[in-house]
Amino acid sequence: MSERTLAIIKPDAVKKHVIGDIIHRYEQAGLKPVAIKMLHMSKSVAEGFYAVHKTRPFFGSLCDFMSSCPAVVLVLQGDNAIKKNRELMGATDPAKADAGTIRKAHGANIEFNAVHGSDSPETANFEIGYFFPGMEIFD
Ligand code: ADP
Ligand code: MG
Repeated sequence: MSERTLAIIKPDAVKKHVIGDIIHRYEQAGLKPVAIKMLHMSKSVAEGFYAVHKTRPFFGSLCDFMSSCPAVVLVLQGDNAIKKNRELMGATDPAKADAGTIRKAHGANIEFNAVHGSDSPETANFEIGYFFPGMEIFD
C-alpha cells in the first residue's frame, strides 16, 4: 500500500555534506520524494515537532541540536514508506544500527543520528502537516 512518511536530514548530516547520499538511498529504495525543502528551525518549531518527547531528559538538547543549523525536510512516498524508511535509517543509536543503514553510515551517536523518520501513520500525518501544506506536495 502506497503511503507517505516525513523524513528529516538532520543538521549533523547537512554539515557532513551527505544530503545527496541520503536522498539517493531513499530513491534507490523506492521512496519517492514528493516534497522537499531546507529550513533552519527555530527552537520553538523544533519543540513543537518533538512535543511527544517533551518530558524526556534529552528534550532540551535535542531541540537545541535540531535548531542549530539548517535541515532538509522531505515527504517520501511509496509502498510501506513508513516501515521502509525506518529500516533504511537503522536503530536510533548508530552503534546498534545494522550495516548498510543511514545511521550506521552517517550517525555519530544516539543524539546526532543523521535522520528522522515518522514511526506510524498517525505521526506521519501530524509531521507532514507540520512542515508542508498540501499544495507543496507533488505526486
Ligand atoms: P527515533 O528518531 O529513532 O524515532 P526517538 O523518537 O526515540 O528516536 O528520539 C527522537 C530523537 O531524539 C532521536 O532520533 C535522537 O536524535 C534523540 N534521542 C533519542 N534518544 C536519546 C538519548 N537517549 N539521548 C540523546 N538524544 C536522544
Ligand atoms: Mg521517533
